[in-house]
Amino acid sequence: MEEEIFKDVVIIGNGPSGITLSYMLAGNWPYYNGSTHPIDFLNHRLQENKEKSILEQDLDYLAEGLDGRSLNPVSVLYDTLVHPQADLGIDTPSVISWKFDPLKAVNHVVIGRDDPGGSWQKMDKSALTLSHSSWMELPSLNIQDWDRNRIKLQSGLKQKRANVRTVANYYHSYVQSQGLSPYFLNRSVVTSVLPVEQDIAQALGFDKLWRVYGYTFVSDSSSTCKNFKYITPHVVLATGNSDKPNMLNVEGENLPFVSHSSSNLETLIRNQKSPNKVSKLLIVGAGLSAADAVITARFYGIPTIHVFRRSVCDPDLIFNKIPQDLYPEYYKVYQMMQDSDHYEGYKAYSSSKIECIKPNGRVMINSCKHGKEISVVNVSHVLVLIGRQPDLSYLPHKALKLGINPDKSVDCKKNPVDINLYNHESVFYPGIFAVGPLVGDNFVRFVQGGCLAVASHVVKTKYESLLNCCATLSE
Ligand SMILES: Cc1cc2nc3c(=O)[nH]c(=O)nc-3n(C[C@H](O)[C@H](O)[C@H](O)COP(=O)(O)OP(=O)(O)OC[C@H]3O[C@@H](n4cnc5c(N)ncnc54)[C@H](O)[C@@H]3O)c2cc1C
Repeated sequence: MEEEIFKDVVIIGNGPSGITLSYMLAGNWPYYNGSTHPIDFLNHRLQENKEKSILEQDLDYLAEGLDGRSLNPVSVLYDTLVHPQADLGIDTPSVISWKFDPLKAVNHVVIGRDDPGGSWQKMDKSALTLSHSSWMELPSLNIQDWDRNRIKLQSGLKQKRANVRTVANYYHSYVQSQGLSPYFLNRSVVTSVLPVEQDIAQALGFDKLWRVYGYTFVSDSSSTCKNFKYITPHVVLATGNSDKPNMLNVEGENLPFVSHSSSNLETLIRNQKSPNKVSKLLIVGAGLSAADAVITARFYGIPTIHVFRRSVCDPDLIFNKIPQDLYPEYYKVYQMMQDSDHYEGYKAYSSSKIECIKPNGRVMINSCKHGKEISVVNVSHVLVLIGRQPDLSYLPHKALKLGINPDKSVDCKKNPVDINLYNHESVFYPGIFAVGPLVGDNFVRFVQGGCLAVASHVVKTKYESLLNCCATLSE
């Protein structure tokens, strides 16, 4: 039987959210560095408690009145402090400095399926980020400096954007360089989170305790596993939005040449000697992942058929929402989608959906553009990239009702986890916290504010119980 280990905090997910929260819990606290913030009222509030870490302060008071591209006030606060005028296109330096004090470290563990970096380890490595490279940064490690210091490697920071490979390497390297490795249990999967019986929790001095079960792959073969069991008052869900692909739900979707992830596309295409070579690719979807796959296929000269449900004129298409000059490669794909007859080796079927996929590679496409019309194409591979959703199957069945609408499953855009906005604790399940896409923060710039909210809560509760303990002793 595996031993049950107590941790003050168990973080599930080792992506940017899990890494940032671990950095704070390891004893790295943010302080106002004295620079003038362009927002007067925030500047005034920061001056009031200069000597105290932001983490110890009243986040509700600091965040009041701020506006930004997140629904979570602490995410907006953090972003406003670290990237003061980013949305105005002005590169104003952060007003935060980080101080490390090992005595402030909180006993925690970060559990993640892959290497540190989370979903960044699984994305198409040749794609470029949507965000500026500095917006991909984690606390106190400048990504440009880090990139410059790497020996012999070519820079992965193209103009203002970064390539995914560089970002994935940066997150991996961050965990080592910031001394966080001892907190990380990588290549590990959480299989269930269950409440500890109330009387046992209370006997141990807690209102609520949770058990976290799972296993770690102990060899590269992925076949040998070791089980783990933690007991904790704080479980943080930092599991992102990348684990469950949306399905077409059509016949043939489970055939071996049909995939729902673009991460292996380049390897598959490069390996053209294999009997499984990609000779004609069908891509389904009209988001940025599908566009990245079109770009990769085109780069390698693979004939491509592109099927998507929306009309090319649909104002909700992502290509109509991002500026052309900043994202020329996506604009090119959009032009191809609008006028595919002019591009050799590429054919778009807009306002269309897949009817079925046959084992011999024959695919029926139902086009609704001019009435109902069925086209039949022959392909070697199908790549379905129509979005993803979180996989919270490790939670007890009841807790799947974590969303703002408890009757529907959690959806990062339409039904995020219902949280207390200032500490990110679940409204329904005390002791369960959520950060990142699960609470609607889909950009690395914003996920870090959620981590500040959780770290602040954990630290304040720890101090409170220490003070209570001292008071009891002195009675
Ligand atoms: C194609 C694409 C492009 C993007 N481009 C940008 C961009 O340019 N800029 C930007 O800011 N954001 C971008 N994002 C969004 C960004 O990836 C997320 O905001 C960010 O990674 C969220 O971090 P996270 O740590 O919360 O979750 P993730 O990075 O998703 O990490 C969560 C990790 O937890 C793991 N996990 C899940 N369940 C379990 C379990 N039971 N046990 C153990 N581990 C588990 C997951 O496998 C994953 O590895 C992009 C996303 C995609 C898909």
